[in-house]
Amino acid sequence: MSDKNVGDKVVLAGWVHRRRDHGGVVFIDLRDRYGLVQIVSDPENFKEAHDLMDEVRSEFVLKIEGKVRLRPEGQANPNMVSGKIEVLTEKVEILNTSKTPPFEVDQDKEVGEELRLKYRYIDLRRDRMKNNMILRHNMTKYIRDYMDNENFIEVETPILIKGTPEGSREYLVPSRIYGGTFYVLPQSPQQLKQLLMVASFDKYFQIARCFRDEDQRGDRQPEFTQLDVEMSFVEENDVMKLNEKLLIELTKKFRPDKKIKETPFPVLTYDEAMNLYGSDRPDIRFDLPISDVTDIAEGCSFEVFKKVVEGGGVVKALRVEGGGKFTRKEIDELGSVAKVFGARGLAYVMVEKDGVKETAIAKFFEKDELKAIVDRCEAKDGDIIFFVADKFTTACESMGSVRQEVAKKLDLIDENLFAYLWVKDFPMFEADKETGKLSAVHHPFTAPKDPKDLEESPETAIAYAYDVILNGNEIGGGSIRIHERKVQKKVFDILGITDEDVERRFGHMMEAFEFGAPPHGGIAWGLDRLVMLFADEPNIREVIAFPKDQKAKDLMLGAPSPMPKEQLEELHVKVIEEK
Ligand code: ASP
Repeated sequence: MSDKNVGDKVVLAGWVHRRRDHGGVVFIDLRDRYGLVQIVSDPENFKEAHDLMDEVRSEFVLKIEGKVRLRPEGQANPNMVSGKIEVLTEKVEILNTSKTPPFEVDQDKEVGEELRLKYRYIDLRRDRMKNNMILRHNMTKYIRDYMDNENFIEVETPILIKGTPEGSREYLVPSRIYGGTFYVLPQSPQQLKQLLMVASFDKYFQIARCFRDEDQRGDRQPEFTQLDVEMSFVEENDVMKLNEKLLIELTKKFRPDKKIKETPFPVLTYDEAMNLYGSDRPDIRFDLPISDVTDIAEGCSFEVFKKVVEGGGVVKALRVEGGGKFTRKEIDELGSVAKVFGARGLAYVMVEKDGVKETAIAKFFEKDELKAIVDRCEAKDGDIIFFVADKFTTACESMGSVRQEVAKKLDLIDENLFAYLWVKDFPMFEADKETGKLSAVHHPFTAPKDPKDLEESPETAIAYAYDVILNGNEIGGGSIRIHERKVQKKVFDILGITDEDVERRFGHMMEAFEFGAPPHGGIAWGLDRLVMLFADEPNIREVIAFPKDQKAKDLMLGAPSPMPKEQLEELHVKVIEEK
């Protein structure tokens, strides 16, 4: 409502946001999803209505009839859309009362998350959550329209499916009719979307709910939402371009204040990303590249470095401009950050005008070696160069986390940027540290870039896979898929899945590949994470209406909960009491 409505007779319904009693005259800010409007009740004119207004408290639900008028001179509120007007109440009906809410709706005060989740329906009345839900709706609608325009159709895939673990643990649903058997909840529609390609639906998408029974590390939810996409007769570039265009449009529409760092999005291989930024989801809002000095360190007399290099490891160096002024304490703190990813330590040298200062490790290097390092890192007087020596992944990731920490510390991150990029060419498999057993890095349906690798050297095979990253967060990932039975069989062999198990778990996929499966590929976005980043929120719970807490509990509903014995019996389920 605005001053255009002055003179209108109106009927309004909503919640009491605030109530102020100005010695006789009562003011109420009435709230609904669309905003606030000031209601006035005046004892002189409409006594009956006014008497009722006396009983009204915060969060009561009211129906009001009255006339819109301009607020008196000097009382307009420029921060409110309806700030110039008010409604003079003629009739009031209390539709419902309210207990005093567990926290205030009318203020953006910090409230403990446990309380917010227990009374989520009240939390959702607050501006922050309401706006997040509206943003989520608008983004989802934009995505649906975009996909529709691009000729995709949304197909719903089932929630009760067959147990065929692809990586994470699945939720089980016992069958009542077939005692002792189970459905599982899908961890993604992966196999079904591929089967839709076999069904000749060459452009599929779905806003799909996924379920993973994982330990609640970090910012995860047992159920979450993906934008799931699959296309036939495509190569990785087709999938990437379609998604890139949508991400650019979403950014322009919903975060016009953000500058996209680079379009087309930069594309790095996994190796490049790890080598340069020490992460397969690098934050490229800032530069701070990592250098490889393995070849130089190889000849030094520092035993730790030498041993690592001899054992096939690498030495990574990070030059920090002006880092020469870091204190001992600051350097130690960065050392602890490196250790989180397994580095044994963080060595360093300080760069001076003509060489480096004497530090614990500088003395193990010849002058020309030090110069080579300084040159490689493009360091100059006043800089510091950090070193980590370890196996490739450990060295890269440790240095990557130091890089991120340094950026925070030196305020190098430009908060106005949305820095997207693609990372591709991941390894197909990773080996278990203890058993050496290979598992799929993406999932077992991902095609190898070169099928010959599967025969010759599966350990180093490259996957036809790609991830899209925003400001250091993986927001989507996908791959070109295997569409031939024999290639799929080979991957299952490499993964050590027996023929019997392949038949039992993936027989339907293997068979489908024999009925004219087209070449295909796709991607899935973590929709919650994307909306979280667009909403500037710190975790995905803030953009989910009714999330679980960090221990996988629904504090409002009280789930999970025990079930009555009879119900369990019907399901042929027996509960083993935990000791
Ligand atoms: N289904 C995969 C996932 O959930 C994504 C994909 O390959 O499309 O991670």
